[in-house]
Amino acid sequence: MNSDMSFREGDCVRMRSSKPLIPTYVAIIEEMKADSRDVRVRWYYWPEETKKGRRHFHGSKELILSDHFDVQSVDTIEGKCTVHSLKKYMKLDVVGDDDFFCRFNYNSATGALTPDIVQVYCKCEMPYNPDEVMVQCDHCTDWFHPACIDMTVEEAERIDNFSCESCSLEVQKKLRGSHSATRLPDTNVDTKRRQR
Ligand SMILES: [Zn+2]
Ligand SMILES: [Zn+2]
Repeated sequence: MNSDMSFREGDCVRMRSSKPLIPTYVAIIEEMKADSRDVRVRWYYWPEETKKGRRHFHGSKELILSDHFDVQSVDTIEGKCTVHSLKKYMKLDVVGDDDFFCRFNYNSATGALTPDIVQVYCKCEMPYNPDEVMVQCDHCTDWFHPACIDMTVEEAERIDNFSCESCSLEVQKKLRGSHSATRLPDTNVDTKRRQR
């Protein structure tokens, strides 16, 4: 089937899947076997295939590099694809069918994702999901999910200026602070009165 397609070690490829729920498998070619039509591959897992399953922050095109290696026939390869870093994926103008991203490695024995510390956003402290609309606070520059700040996605897409709850509280505190400062002249008046 792929006799006219040439693959090299390090290529990311889509592999035919026998499971109806998983439309396609993605793997990276580790080794081309010289005298057969076999390739040694390292699988990317879908979040669904990990012990903790798909979580809220996983993107629809997110793959997780597993520690699971296999030997497969070159004939199960459907074609090449690209597994980007999250940063590069977010800069894509158009996400094609063959564009994926990966930010975690998977330990199949423990079920752990590494790195286990990633930057988190919003009040819910979740890693970034590139599929979701988020609103940025003008003050602290943190990003928020519309649902976490009682906003609809439509409102979030329209909003020009946004200040998150804690930044708004800070602003109010400063305002209150300046109010107490304006009370000082009153005290002066009092002292003057007492001097009379
Ligand atoms: Zn949130
Ligand atoms: Zn803020």
